[in-house]
Amino acid sequence: MKQPLTVLLLSFCLVSALCAQEKPKNIFIITIDGFRWQELFNGADPELVNNTAFVNDTALLKELYDDSTAELRRQKLLPFFWSVIARKGQLTGNRAYGNRVNVSNFYKISYPGYNELLTGYADPRPVLNTPTPNRNTNILEYLNKEEEYTGKVVAFSSWNIFPYIINEKRNGIPVNSGYEAIEESDSTDRYINQVQGNIDESHCRYDRLTYLAAKEYIQKHHPKVAMIGFGETDEYAHQRKYDMYLQHANAIDRMIAELWYMIQTDPFYRNNTYLYITTDHGRGKKPTSWYAHNLFVKGSGETWQAILGPGIAALGEIKIQQQAYQKQIAGTIAALLGKSFRGSDNPVIPVTAIQTNAHETVTAESAKIIRSFAGR
Ligand SMILES: [Zn+2]
Repeated sequence: MKQPLTVLLLSFCLVSALCAQEKPKNIFIITIDGFRWQELFNGADPELVNNTAFVNDTALLKELYDDSTAELRRQKLLPFFWSVIARKGQLTGNRAYGNRVNVSNFYKISYPGYNELLTGYADPRPVLNTPTPNRNTNILEYLNKEEEYTGKVVAFSSWNIFPYIINEKRNGIPVNSGYEAIEESDSTDRYINQVQGNIDESHCRYDRLTYLAAKEYIQKHHPKVAMIGFGETDEYAHQRKYDMYLQHANAIDRMIAELWYMIQTDPFYRNNTYLYITTDHGRGKKPTSWYAHNLFVKGSGETWQAILGPGIAALGEIKIQQQAYQKQIAGTIAALLGKSFRGSDNPVIPVTAIQTNAHETVTAESAKIIRSFAGR
């Protein structure tokens, strides 16, 4: 393939600068399907927690998640995000400060969103949410072809369309999705499969089962790149159950906290692993549209991202005016690992505005490059 010289030079700079790091790093890409930036930054919506059309027991829900300020509400809803990531990592997408993250794709539903996120390409061709093998190359298969990561890339998801989005058939990356059985290597694995086998299957597995399957695999096999796709937030939002939407977001926060604890207490992962957390799409912004999302519902393209890991500056909630796009994420993930991934429609890899600590594990030079890519 012929590449313009500038692209080659830029790729070379990015790779050589970041390759100065010693050990190849690990990354966990975590997605929370259809979880809104509104709840991430403001906690439970005071109007919605009081609305009996969307909440079974408004008094109890308020005891759980309501409070006088957005800061207190978000802390109650997502303690890991606001105790750990806000102190040691970065959260972008709070539109109250003009800090925006958007999808670039036209459809603003899941398949196109996960495609954009993983391939760096906002594919205009309509695939919608069907089990269609993805035509675009994704960051997982790109990494799987890199020597340090070969055979160490894996994905788990609640939604059963992920094997098609990632195109497991083409690239052989193990993708455990929906109620697909996991490989049994001990009694815990057998137990997970037994529980799964007794559930009335739908297109979305219980997130706790997805998490358990992922956790068992991670502890036993130490993958270097793992994607975990949670799905119940979107399921309950579509059912217009705001109480269940909040409870599942809260449960996911706890699972991520547990995962981070596991990472930081395992010598294989400790201080050498990123968490990159984001979503596939936004949802409606109004009390009458929060449950829906598609190209006609305003707010459906508004997302967020949270990142934590070695060399990421502890800036917490980013409050500066800035625009990032979902299609930049794949390139950003590659850059964090010292690689350069080129999505199908990106001649130069755009990297989202992640600030790095020059004095830590990421070199000063690579920090400069990351900043320059952010266009700031
Ligand atoms: Zn949805």
